[in-house]
Amino acid sequence: MAGEQDLMEKIVSLAKRRGFIYPSSEIYGGINGFWDYGPLGVELKRNIKDAWWNDFVRCPPLGPDGRPIQMVGLDCSIIMNPKVWEASGHVTGFNDPMVDCTLCKSRYRADKVFTVAFIPREKALEFFEQQDEAVRAYEKDSDSAERYAKERLFRSMDNAIFNPAVRLGIEAETPEEAKEKALAALPAKQRKGLGLEPVRIWWSPIRESRGRPSVCPRCGGQLTEARKFNLMFETYVGAMQDSSSKAYLRPETAQGIFANYKNVLDTTRIKVPFGIAQIGKAFRNEINPRNFTFRSREFEQMEIEFFCHPGQADQWYKWWRDTRYAWYTGLGLKSSKLRLRDHEKEELAHYARACADVEYEFPFGVSELEGIANRTDFDLSQHQKFSGRDMTYFDDETKERFLPYVIEPSGGCDRAALAFLCEAYCEDEAPDENGAMQKRTVLRFHPRLAPIKVAIFPLVKKDGMPERAMEIYSALRVNMTAVYDEKGAVGRRYRRQDEAGTPFCLTVDGQTMQDGTVTIRDRDSMKQDRIPGAPAALLAYIQEHLRQ
Ligand code: ATP
Repeated sequence: MAGEQDLMEKIVSLAKRRGFIYPSSEIYGGINGFWDYGPLGVELKRNIKDAWWNDFVRCPPLGPDGRPIQMVGLDCSIIMNPKVWEASGHVTGFNDPMVDCTLCKSRYRADKVFTVAFIPREKALEFFEQQDEAVRAYEKDSDSAERYAKERLFRSMDNAIFNPAVRLGIEAETPEEAKEKALAALPAKQRKGLGLEPVRIWWSPIRESRGRPSVCPRCGGQLTEARKFNLMFETYVGAMQDSSSKAYLRPETAQGIFANYKNVLDTTRIKVPFGIAQIGKAFRNEINPRNFTFRSREFEQMEIEFFCHPGQADQWYKWWRDTRYAWYTGLGLKSSKLRLRDHEKEELAHYARACADVEYEFPFGVSELEGIANRTDFDLSQHQKFSGRDMTYFDDETKERFLPYVIEPSGGCDRAALAFLCEAYCEDEAPDENGAMQKRTVLRFHPRLAPIKVAIFPLVKKDGMPERAMEIYSALRVNMTAVYDEKGAVGRRYRRQDEAGTPFCLTVDGQTMQDGTVTIRDRDSMKQDRIPGAPAALLAYIQEHLRQ
């Protein structure tokens, strides 16, 4: 784990040093949960979004029937009529303090879920005595180091007393009810092991917990901290700041698609099954932003809502799940660190028929990159109900009218960028100017994602080499991100490009001036080839290799 932490630190530090990602408004001390993308980061992110848009909107893959699927794009406003968020459930759904199960993802009101621990009576008495002592010592001495020691005593007592623990998660209105329900739910075998009249201690994520973990009533997994307020950022539209002008920064891009589904049907000749795609900013006032950009408060989503006949939804769901997974592997997340995890039935939201997560093993743990869900007709029926507009679809051929089901692949661009960055990061060795092996840091991005595709160097700053190199640079940069660099030893220039993840470096040298050839150096193998240096030939060569 220490090694992994170390790796994450190296990646964060490289990201800052080379201009991939900076803390937002850093000159003022930053702001938690917000990040800025620097010159290399913005190219990486743009390449991810372009790849996604190209592969799913402009040139979508062939569907299960072997024909290209129908896809169109949208770009909706960030602030929408607040009714959208009432219909989607975000206004009510996020209003109470909520906790989520980290295992099965069930969500509970934090004040309505209790953890009840059973302790054999003798052990409990011991504990209460120790606790009294600790409290007395604590009251006498307020020195912070002492205080820390006493806190630890409390914690170790907790550990002792709950080990082996019988802890049950219970949904109830009051602690008393929770204790009753827990007793009834206690398996006979465990009850026997606890002896007569065990003591019951309860806590909830927001009451009496003193940092003790809360337990999920459904699966026994650990519950998150309570989210005490709505995750949506609020704002006001217009001059008045009252409840009538309240609006929200969208917490997801999906609802803009649902709100425009009828517009798209009415203004294009598209027919079900079809998909609408959108890339855009989303905002969530996360309680605990963490793990670099992984959990941010402002981030970008890449979402598709695919509308299909309910009878075909299972088939489309499977197709989207596999297709989206393959997209990540195709762009370089090939290692065993990528996985597709189907949700268990109990994990599903009440409206969802199936769901899977594409997960990546980041240095800080395995976490979600994207979720693919069969959301049934939940969203369209909600908007139909709240807007009063008919959301059904009439099929001219079958003469059937129905509410389409929706398959939603919903991914985060920042999480994808972070995964590609982590996957690309590599340390190996390369010879320096004197042939001695030196440690090298290299970002092995898939060429499609690399922020800079090609760097052009004159070997020395004389004999017409800079002019020739500049000529090549000027021709290539029209078609791809290219840089020109003439500073320092050529080995050092290679190293700079390795750290940026540039797949190709072209060098103009003495031989170029004689026969027109240049050397091309491959980032990963570090092999150099000599190829014709005419700009058109170079362009064809590089484009060919970028496609692979
Ligand atoms: P999590 O459980 O990690 O909070 P989620 O299941 O709530 O994520 P969704 O609502 O399904 O996420 O959002 C779709 C995608 O948007 C996620 O798969 C993720 O890539 C991205 N995303 C969600 N929240 C954040 C965030 N706070 N920071 C960065 N990306 C995010």
